[in-house]
Amino acid sequence: MTDETFTPLKGHCTCRAITYEVLAPFLCTNCCHCTWCQRETGSAFVLNAIIETSNFRITSDTKPIHVDVPSASGDGQMMARCPKCFIVLYGDYADDGTWTTYVRVGTLDDESKERTKPDVHIFTSTKMDWVDLSGEKARGVPIFEESYRRIHVWRNDANERFDLLKIRMEESKKEEEVEEKVSN
Ligand SMILES: [Zn+2]
Ligand SMILES: [Zn+2]
Repeated sequence: MTDETFTPLKGHCTCRAITYEVLAPFLCTNCCHCTWCQRETGSAFVLNAIIETSNFRITSDTKPIHVDVPSASGDGQMMARCPKCFIVLYGDYADDGTWTTYVRVGTLDDESKERTKPDVHIFTSTKMDWVDLSGEKARGVPIFEESYRRIHVWRNDANERFDLLKIRMEESKKEEEVEEKVSN
């Protein structure tokens, strides 16, 4: 489901061995202030922009390496790193598995980065106290001490796209179950 009027967003790692493209508007851009993201980035927060994996593609010949990392939820996560400079470009979380991709906004090209601002601030209970979100509040960006329900935060079109994705996830799960039965 690609919007033809949408100009793809582009990004790359530090050594530019990996380049990528995002083919539709992000579903939501999370600014996460949890201690896990702080440690993983070595910074105050992370900006994770969520996209259907079908709307994300690597445009370089070099492909990232996938590293499994523990996550706060206990379900684990995958981080995609450049095999040369080891920068993390994106990842996915166990709940939606490989169906969604969480792009590290800092790896977007300048022009694409300008188009990608936080839609929500989360886990602000562990926010570093010098990070001042009053400007974000004034901009109307929702702020949560912990997590949130997407239905309350995401744009309508993003919720509709995610609902479609969930249907496709469930269909594919059923197909896998049938295949398993056949192969047993
Ligand atoms: Zn690199
Ligand atoms: Zn986090």
